[in-house]
Amino acid sequence: MNVTTLMAELERRHPGESEYLQAVREVLESIEETYNLHPEFEKAKIIERMVEPDRIITFRVTWVDDRGEIRTNLDYRIQFNSAIGPYKGGIRFHKAVNTSMLKFLGFEQTFKNALTTLPMGGAKGGSDFDPVGKSDAEIMRFCQAFMLELWNNIGPDTDVPAGDVGVGGREIGYLYGMYKKLAREYNTGVLTGKGMTWGGSLIRPEATGYGALYFVQHMLDRAGRSLKGSTVAISGFGNVAWGAAKKATELGAKVIAISGPDGVIHNPNGMNDEKIAYMLTLRASNQNIVAPFAERFDDATFIPGKKAWSIKCDIALPCAFQNELGEEDAKELLANGTWCVAEVSNMGCTPEAIATLQGAGILFAPGKAVNAGGVATSGLEMTQNAMHISWSAAEVDEKLHYIMHSIHEACVKYGKQEDGYINYVKGANIAGFMKVAQAMLEQGIV
Ligand code: GLU
Repeated sequence: MNVTTLMAELERRHPGESEYLQAVREVLESIEETYNLHPEFEKAKIIERMVEPDRIITFRVTWVDDRGEIRTNLDYRIQFNSAIGPYKGGIRFHKAVNTSMLKFLGFEQTFKNALTTLPMGGAKGGSDFDPVGKSDAEIMRFCQAFMLELWNNIGPDTDVPAGDVGVGGREIGYLYGMYKKLAREYNTGVLTGKGMTWGGSLIRPEATGYGALYFVQHMLDRAGRSLKGSTVAISGFGNVAWGAAKKATELGAKVIAISGPDGVIHNPNGMNDEKIAYMLTLRASNQNIVAPFAERFDDATFIPGKKAWSIKCDIALPCAFQNELGEEDAKELLANGTWCVAEVSNMGCTPEAIATLQGAGILFAPGKAVNAGGVATSGLEMTQNAMHISWSAAEVDEKLHYIMHSIHEACVKYGKQEDGYINYVKGANIAGFMKVAQAMLEQGIV
């Protein structure tokens, strides 16, 4: 494989798909050396096949808003790779959703799901529907109209969607209600992130954030550091940020910042139960602003227009959106003494930011390893659904612990450099790639 040639060809075929090209380039650069040690991969054109989705389902969704106006959205399900299991991955509702964004996410998902140790292929879906400012009734009508188109393409052994940015428990409920009506079957395992009374798994709502903190714990242990007494800056305030803030606080760290598109909350005294619960209230308001947090809690200050990375911290956890931490942010963090950055959002850091952080020799780990606890627990939800039982919270949490530990071990195994530095990006990419590549090789040319 030659990265320059491959990328030139991809850019020609997919002009302007910047997020997708960025995600593929990162993986190609880190697996190139290993790949070229395996002539059987080259012969079977594994990488040429792996970078393209198996199929993209595109559909139009039309619905009626509260004022009686007719609205149309563009919607997709990208079934990326099913070498190691049924397609699996979230659905994103965000005004900027397009094929580039969902292809990057589906590609990342394929590697991430391989890392979880569970049998799940990679997929992603979404809509340019913007939940900001929508009423609950509008969200329900949109979810129902979305499922009307999608239902025939998914199934417990075919493709299992879940939540992502803009899609949480509420949306999964509305999606499932319509799915069940159309399919005339109680296929519990067709979606994950379900409610606890109808097939959901305990710990799934918390799992992305919890898993991320378990991963960070392993990184810190290895480096002789501890979460206890460390300060943590978190971007975002949604489901992922909430789980991360909750577990970080439980493990003795002080969460001194959360943020939104409107600015950052400086929270010097850290979180408590009330503050953490309020993050969920903020998300459910559909306003996508974090400022009310400072009105509600006297010891917190709102700084408009600033990012979480402007607050001095030991550990930075991007938990919101792709490319939310750029080169200048990385420099600001380093100048403030940050010694660990772990992406909890998918591709939260730009390539320049990653190069800056790794160049400074601080701990850095990519989203596909750090946030894999979310989809891993979705996998555990599927297992419980298939067995028609539900495990206790302690049982799920123990399995999540085990999975995050094994992902960390895989990263160390494939990412350890001669000088001892762990390149977690390389480690995660190679470990994920090897598993999918092996399966593709054994399944022939399809
Ligand atoms: N959207 C989450 C992710 O990026 C979870 C996907 C799932 O549970 O299927 O991994």
